[in-house]
Amino acid sequence: MTVSVLRCDNYELNQLRETIKESLDNLGGLEAFIKIGDRVLLKTNLLMKKAPDEATTTHPMFVRAIAELLIDYGAKVLIGDSPGGPFLEIRMKNIYKATGMQEVANATGAALNFNLKSFTVESKGSLLLNKIELTDMINDVDKIINLPKLKTHGLTVFTGAVKNLFGLIPGTIKGEYHVRMPDVNDFSNALIDICEHVKPVLHVMDGIMSMEGAGPSSGVPKKTNVIIASDNPHDLDKVACELIDLGVMDVPTLRLAYERGLTSVDLSDVDIKGDSLENLRIWDFVKAPANSGRKRRIPKPIMALLVKQLKSKPIFNDSKCVGCGDCELNCPPKAIVMIARKPVVDYKKCISCFCCQELCPAKAIDIKKPLLSKIVFR
Ligand code: SF4
Ligand code: SF4
Repeated sequence: MTVSVLRCDNYELNQLRETIKESLDNLGGLEAFIKIGDRVLLKTNLLMKKAPDEATTTHPMFVRAIAELLIDYGAKVLIGDSPGGPFLEIRMKNIYKATGMQEVANATGAALNFNLKSFTVESKGSLLLNKIELTDMINDVDKIINLPKLKTHGLTVFTGAVKNLFGLIPGTIKGEYHVRMPDVNDFSNALIDICEHVKPVLHVMDGIMSMEGAGPSSGVPKKTNVIIASDNPHDLDKVACELIDLGVMDVPTLRLAYERGLTSVDLSDVDIKGDSLENLRIWDFVKAPANSGRKRRIPKPIMALLVKQLKSKPIFNDSKCVGCGDCELNCPPKAIVMIARKPVVDYKKCISCFCCQELCPAKAIDIKKPLLSKIVFR
């Protein structure tokens, strides 16, 4: 499969338009994927109400550049995502405003999604999910273009093209997936099922300013200066991970895609067009704290005995906490209760999904890796 990799070191609109156009040309041009008159959903990463320079969400100039290319071509554009937490109109208005999407809509004439309904669909080719509940916004379009942000992730190690499509699961329904699939391998297989079911026609990754460390929302912005595009989400993620020194076996969605025959274990079968990976590599990209080590081969029975002691846990920093209660609201197994406006966790109930860390607006939650885990996953 072809993956376009192009250097782009800022969010200046003309440069973005040119580089994204060149990325699409490397894949056969927009006309290979979109027909004139098509309605196209730009599936952005709008995880929460954050300003663009915090590198949590797809940058608005990146979204604007691709929206303009599509509109000039003759397509109709809808911008959307279902962020974590309740999927409500007032929340979406605030998120569109904070993330710069309202300005993109004003400048380009693209529509913002306010269809908050959902529907359930049978997923016959899935490995894990027989039925998937999805946001109804995908029924308002003919095609989906996925616009992920390159970031670390506390649970899944990395969030890119495959993980970004979890945002098509409506609001709080996402929490049910974590409760039903507390094991990261099951959860990752579900992510692959969702990705394979909704099948965006294209994936274009905003890897210009990425997030390292405690991603997907509490990490640190990091310049990685790259736009990666492909019609194969697994190969795109594989190339992105290669650039930040993660291998297929380090990332559950990639390892399981490999086991399912959806990608290979290395880059040997990927046709990379554009700039050399060697010139774009970031050797010091800080991994997510829960997953900062390479796994050693431990026999499965021993691993089963150790699993509880190896699990990373969320640690709450009361001095940073602003008492908003979002962690309590979004904890899938209801392991958090707010007492005197501070969260208290029942670690026996905690499934280490890190939804609390993902959605905390104050970066008040760290992920702590137990000492034994540090030794095993050194
Ligand atoms: S989400 Fe963060 S700021 Fe809000 S109550 Fe929980 S820890 Fe505190
Ligand atoms: S406390 Fe945090 S990590 Fe634990 S289950 Fe709740 S949301 Fe997930």
